[in-house]
Amino acid sequence: MSLEKHVQDKGQDTKQSNMMAETLEDLRFDNSYARLPETFYQRLHPTAVKEPKLVKLNYKLSETLGLNPLKIGQTDQEILAGNRVPKQADPIAMVYAGHQFGNWVPQLGDGRAVLLGELLNNEGQRWDLQLKGSGPTEYSRMGDGRAVLGPVMREYIVSEAMFNLGIPTTRALAFSMTGEMVRREYMEPGAILTRVASSHIRVGTFQYFHGKGDEDAIKILADYAIKRHYPHAEFAEQPYLTLLDSVIQNTAELISAWMLVGFIHGVMNTDNTAISGETIDYGPCAFMDGFNPNKTFSSIDSGGRYAYNHQPMIGQWNLTRFAETLLKLLDENQDNSITKAKASIENFWFFFEKAFHEGLCKKIGLSASDEENTKLAFDFLDLLSKSDVDFTTAYRSLGSYLEEENETNFKNLFDSKQDIDNWLARWNDKLGSEGKGTKEIKKKMNSVNPAFIPRNHQIAKAINLATNTEDFGLMEDLITVLDAPFENNHRLHDLSLPPKKGEEVTQTFCGT
Ligand code: AMP
Ligand code: MG
Repeated sequence: MSLEKHVQDKGQDTKQSNMMAETLEDLRFDNSYARLPETFYQRLHPTAVKEPKLVKLNYKLSETLGLNPLKIGQTDQEILAGNRVPKQADPIAMVYAGHQFGNWVPQLGDGRAVLLGELLNNEGQRWDLQLKGSGPTEYSRMGDGRAVLGPVMREYIVSEAMFNLGIPTTRALAFSMTGEMVRREYMEPGAILTRVASSHIRVGTFQYFHGKGDEDAIKILADYAIKRHYPHAEFAEQPYLTLLDSVIQNTAELISAWMLVGFIHGVMNTDNTAISGETIDYGPCAFMDGFNPNKTFSSIDSGGRYAYNHQPMIGQWNLTRFAETLLKLLDENQDNSITKAKASIENFWFFFEKAFHEGLCKKIGLSASDEENTKLAFDFLDLLSKSDVDFTTAYRSLGSYLEEENETNFKNLFDSKQDIDNWLARWNDKLGSEGKGTKEIKKKMNSVNPAFIPRNHQIAKAINLATNTEDFGLMEDLITVLDAPFENNHRLHDLSLPPKKGEEVTQTFCGT
């Protein structure tokens, strides 16, 4: 089977090549995944909803996709709620498997999502366009195929925040309310998220075919993934080993990026691990307030499997599961395959530590990440954890402390004045040896230490307001500050603050 047939842009010359499309109907689709063998998906349409209402459209992302957000109309409202399918789309639900909390589940799949198709913009960039909450599929098991407003808003807010923080992620193009109530613990308003991703191929997608012993399918999928995500691997001496190495590096760097902003994914199952290296499937995810390396938020993660500081270890575990699916492709000789895979998996720590140490040093304004600087950066984390200091505030205030705008404010964050004074003295030494001016250092620190993160208590407030009174004001404010998370915003300054006593939200729910 020719790969070109699956992935390559057909080079169609559509009428909108030099202008923005006025409706999703006019966007250019090229549905390469739907041209893979039929064992890869179920072909189906979304289930129409009662009363589709578009609540939020991401203007900037629409423009990136080549869609004029000002022209969005009735047709698009219907498409974004699954009541109409664009002519060029070829909707499917993808099948996958996965380890959920370490337990093998041989078949999962898009149980409440439909991949409408792949969009190609004028620059030839390709995106999956997926509706999440679009009704039952073959893979729904006991689920209703629907999503509710709270989790949809959380994914919209957090995934866009991640994008603006510079972290690889799926994105949110829009969300709609369905006019239907959906039963969860209580009855909640139904909603549908329109998600955009560089693809929805997961470690679990490979595992599905591996579990079935379908080596032909694994080769087709691996070749497809190379073409779509890692084209350099095609010409490497060992394409599949290069694929494995690339996924390992991207995932290691992704998890480091999460941890540098205090993000906890919450459900790092292998089916929620994208091989593109993008953050995917925002469920009970949350950003930490006070720094605690053992922090978990998810109500279902009672054992702390996916705690903040377990994330790299779990990432490596998930990638080991990925490597297992590729063994037959890595070498004809099984022992050689295992040796190669093991060496690659070991490299995870190299990539993770390099990115994490460099990032931690940058957060304290140091360009070099040698052993001493790294030790200094970790000692700062220790001080944060000892005094339960707000992670985001601490780094941002350290930058301000440098210009002595708020010396007392900064030191008051810590229980022991002695400890922080000692640390600051060592820090000053190291900064001095890099020989940069304070203005420059502060500017650099502010470009990696956000003023705004999607604070859990604010998301919860925004969701409550919307669910109870359809008031989306706080959500809009959150989206505004998170659009430029490294900039101060005086009007909305309160949204940068940690929760006050009694405001903390310590548990999150996946809402499925
Ligand atoms: P998640 O925990 O969201 O990553 O989902 C795990 C699996 O459960 C995936 O196969 C989902 O498609 C499926 N799933 C989650 N929620 C629902 C739902 N409401 N209806 C049907 N399937 C669901
Ligand atoms: Mg999932």
